[in-house]
Amino acid sequence: MADLVFFSGTMDCGKSTLALQIDHNQRARGRHGLIFTKLDRAGQSVLSSRLGLETRAVEVDDALDFWDVVAGSLVQGARVDYVICDEAQFYTPVQVEQLARVVDELRIDVTAFGITADFRTALFPGSRRLIELADRVEVLQVEALCWCGRRATHNARIVDGVMVVEGEQVVVGDTASAREGLVEYEVLCRRHHMRRMNSAAARAASPTPDTLPFDLDACPVPPPL
Ligand SMILES: [Zn+2]
Repeated sequence: MADLVFFSGTMDCGKSTLALQIDHNQRARGRHGLIFTKLDRAGQSVLSSRLGLETRAVEVDDALDFWDVVAGSLVQGARVDYVICDEAQFYTPVQVEQLARVVDELRIDVTAFGITADFRTALFPGSRRLIELADRVEVLQVEALCWCGRRATHNARIVDGVMVVEGEQVVVGDTASAREGLVEYEVLCRRHHMRRMNSAAARAASPTPDTLPFDLDACPVPPPL
C-alpha cells in the first residue's frame, strides 16, 4: 500500500533536511524517486537544507500536473518508486489532489513537506489540502525555538525590522523590494506571535540588554486591526 504522508512544521524545523535524508535512504536501497520543490531559498530546481546539503529537483509552478509528470515518466520507461515534495505549502489544492491520485492509482509513496500556516497564522492552501487528504500528518520532532526558549509554532514576517501581520501570503525571505522593504522570517511561540513580539522588539522593550520581557503584561496582545 502506498501512502500520502505530510510532514508539517514551522520554518527552520528541519523539513528539507529530512526530505534529503529520506531521498538518501531510498537511493541507498536502489530505489528511484522524483523530487519536487518550489521557491527553495537556494534557487530554481534545487532542494536545499539549512545544513548545507542540496540536490537537484523539479521546480513546481502552478501549471505543473503531478499526474502527467509521474505517469509520463513511467510511460517513458523510468522507474519511479517514490515522490518527495518539498515546500508543498506553495502547491495548489488541485496539485495536492494530483499527488493523492499518484498514490492511489500508481501505488507510489508520496512524502510531502511543508509549513502549515503563513505569517498571519492562516493555513497555506497547499497545506490545508494535504491535511485534508493525507493518510498521515506528522509534526516534525526537530523543534525550532522562539527567542524566549518555548517551542516555536508560528512563523513571523519581519519587514524592515518590524513584525507585520498583513501582506501577500507568499514573499520569499531575505529579499528586498521597493514595495515591501527587506523581508525576513522568524519563528516564534504563539504567545509572542500574538503579541507581535519578535526578538528585536523584545530586546527593544527590555530594560537591560540581558533581561528579556518574559512577563506577558510587558507585551499585551494588540487590538484587532
Ligand atoms: Zn516566545
